[in-house]
Amino acid sequence: MEYSPLENDQAKSPKPFLNKEEIILLNPGQLADYFAELTREGRLETYLDEALENPELVAQFSYWEKWLAQEERKLLDNIIAQKREIYRETQEDDDELPLGLEKRFTPEQLKLIFENLHAIQLTFGCSKGCPFCAFDAVPGAREHISYKQLERIFQNYGQSLKKNTSILYWASEPSDYLDEDKTYLDVYQLAELYAGYQPHTRSRETDKKEWVEALLGKLPKERVAISFYGINNSGKKRLFRDAEIDLVGENRSHQRGFGVSNREEKTEGEHGITQGTYPIITPRGLYNIVSLPNSERYPQGQVVVPIIDLNGAEIEIGDPIEKVLGHYLAEINDQSFSFSEDMAQKGRNERRLMATDGKKRFVVVFGRDGIIRNFREFDPNKLQDALTELSETDGTAQFSYFSQIPTARILTDIMNEMAGKKNFYSHDMDTDTRTWEIDNYGPSGTNGITIEVWPKEKAILIAPISKIGEIRKRAREIIDAEEKT
Ligand code: SF4
Repeated sequence: MEYSPLENDQAKSPKPFLNKEEIILLNPGQLADYFAELTREGRLETYLDEALENPELVAQFSYWEKWLAQEERKLLDNIIAQKREIYRETQEDDDELPLGLEKRFTPEQLKLIFENLHAIQLTFGCSKGCPFCAFDAVPGAREHISYKQLERIFQNYGQSLKKNTSILYWASEPSDYLDEDKTYLDVYQLAELYAGYQPHTRSRETDKKEWVEALLGKLPKERVAISFYGINNSGKKRLFRDAEIDLVGENRSHQRGFGVSNREEKTEGEHGITQGTYPIITPRGLYNIVSLPNSERYPQGQVVVPIIDLNGAEIEIGDPIEKVLGHYLAEINDQSFSFSEDMAQKGRNERRLMATDGKKRFVVVFGRDGIIRNFREFDPNKLQDALTELSETDGTAQFSYFSQIPTARILTDIMNEMAGKKNFYSHDMDTDTRTWEIDNYGPSGTNGITIEVWPKEKAILIAPISKIGEIRKRAREIIDAEEKT
């Protein structure tokens, strides 16, 4: 669906407002143009009053709020606040999950969401207001998920969140969180208490004394990073360096051309700062995120789609990927950096994601333009299918199996056989540290294949792509032998 402001300007009578599905297909520039048009026509308030009854449109407009004019942002925030106030007055149980999630999804779907969740963004807006924020965080923290709701998330879904050690920030600054006397550190303790993990923390706040002391003294240093993009104060740097805390972006500035700055400084085909495919939750919405090289359509270098439901939808070649992401969950694969990196650096034109509605899983292949090129239903028990798919890829390929024990066991067997042979590397993995291990391990960054089997088997096989035939042959032999017995 193409939105054309010019066409709308020429219309004699006001056109009907765009509906939810149409809005989700607009790129952020087009969305901003649509807001500007409604402002010119004096219809924005009427439109928002109706549209903001939809949680997905609250999510969509909020995510791209930095693209809107100042007055439009104010109006949007005011109407959202008013509607939330009315909702708060009428709701019976103030202990519920954020965003009314339990009213929109079944308990099974919620479990699936939290098992795949990459991030819970605690606040909306960011006190740091970096002009070249690649996430387009609006300046100033103005809303948060209540501590009670976070407590309920961790109490009910802590074991699900543990699988991916979900982080507690996204387009936000952790030190901004405050709900009465509860701070980020209290939420952090919920993760420790109910989920048994210590979330990775990245912060840009280097001035608040108590916060700095907590970062240096209370949190495990290997799980903390300080963002030093654009900060030149060497005294501050020394403080954290001496404490052996990871300094990110030292001696660099945020890259221009991502997010709203892409409007002025057109960059295209560059890899953004996110990696992988996964859902996230913010105070304003539940989204699927899929990284891609940046473009006018995807200025942040990622597809961002509010999840409407998990009821599935017809998948069709030629459709925009947003249609799938509105009705399926993008299964987490935070190791799939190579897809978007390869697209950016090696001119690769396609990437894939695993989409599920909780009943079926689909491998969906789409281009950097977001258009679906291919798809097929995924059968986790068909090892041959999976390996064929691996062998089709050129360069580094990664494929994850989520708790698929039959497949996991077979691959582990192969791994054990291959381990120690020349050009093969095997490694027991701890789910908690896999992100870092994989980067440093074997030939995966050059010309290898990574087969991950986790979380239950916690195993990984990395092999040169030229050996895929050998792996497949051996897998066939194992399967045949099993079938005979
Ligand atoms: S601190 Fe991070 S999230 Fe906040 S504005 Fe800066 S880059 Fe964006």
